[in-house]
Amino acid sequence: MIDSNSVVFKYFYLKFHRKTYIMKIAFFSAKPYDKEFFKKENENFGFEFIFYETHLGPHIVNAIENEDAVCVFVNDRLNREVIEVLAKKGVKVIALRCAGFNNVDREAVKEFGLKICRVPAYSPEAVAEHAMAMLLTLNRKTHKAYNRVREQNFALNGLLGFNLYQKTIGVVGTGKIGKAFVKIAIGFGAKIIAYDLFPDKDLEAIGVEYMPLESLFSQSDIVSLHCPLTPENHYMINNEFIAKMKNGVTIINTSRGGLINTNDAIIALKEKKIGLLGLDVYEQEEKIFFKDLSASIIEDDSIQRLMSFPNVLVTSHQAFFTKEALEQISQRTLQSISDLLKTGTTDPEVLL
Ligand code: NAD
Repeated sequence: MIDSNSVVFKYFYLKFHRKTYIMKIAFFSAKPYDKEFFKKENENFGFEFIFYETHLGPHIVNAIENEDAVCVFVNDRLNREVIEVLAKKGVKVIALRCAGFNNVDREAVKEFGLKICRVPAYSPEAVAEHAMAMLLTLNRKTHKAYNRVREQNFALNGLLGFNLYQKTIGVVGTGKIGKAFVKIAIGFGAKIIAYDLFPDKDLEAIGVEYMPLESLFSQSDIVSLHCPLTPENHYMINNEFIAKMKNGVTIINTSRGGLINTNDAIIALKEKKIGLLGLDVYEQEEKIFFKDLSASIIEDDSIQRLMSFPNVLVTSHQAFFTKEALEQISQRTLQSISDLLKTGTTDPEVLL
């Protein structure tokens, strides 16, 4: 029995009646650059788009009318309640235009029979290069030098850095992004140690030494996080683990905010245990990142405290944000939605 609400039914029904069924996608958390890249890529697909600037959540989910798919980003909340409404409204596909999926109740997706896909690999180099940019900015204080010379202050006091050459860099998670980061860091002549549930043979072959997390933390001058956020590793960096690190350690997080206990990190910064901290992600970022709050009062005291430290660099989840990555994200996302709506399946790599 064919479901009369299914895309395939609508497609053939309309074809029989010499009309074309145009598949519809609702985008949430849509920014001008999303619209630009997706509209351009859509020249190859012919979907109908509706863009919502707000994130997807219970407050907006009832706005869905005839859409076949929703396309969401890192801070959209896909809990059970939202997924149930999506299913009732006839949505067939949830497409994450990102790699991480910690914001989705996957059990509920299964329970309500929706298909879900993501973009597991879009230019891992984009994120890896940003992690290195954060490290070099903090280390060589180029963010301070930039402001200083604009005020005609050419003094070097306070700008002293350190070489990455021969430093020990601990990489947590050596999947696509972690591996790209390791390759860049090796170019600086750093010693690379790593922790992953599944050590990478290619990296071992080029001298990367895998070890337990505690040993990595105690030996690293710099720690860079590249693992997904899971219930098991939530607050992986907390008081207890920071205490095991070297004094003055540098920590870079381009992965997910929940990997670091922010309050513990603030205490460690005050005690100078953490020497430099680079955050492209933040545990409460959904209320702050991707928005222009320059005329607002920010109520989150922790982010304000973090930004007040001279040795902390915060960027607002921009590590992925390159032209190449956005092209790949829009191409892969529309291809997956098209495949899933037309055939019910697509490249297993992108399915969750
Ligand atoms: P990936 O799946 O290729 O690699 C993840 C690696 O982490 C795997 O090797 C896996 O075995 C390992 N891992 C899983 N759990 C772990 C744990 N508890 N401890 C240590 N290692 C563990 O993913 P990827 O494409 O390299 O992306 C990594 C993460 O980067 C994503 O999950 C996402 O959170 C983040 N990310 C951030 C941005 C950004 O713009 N800041 C963009 C893309 C991805």
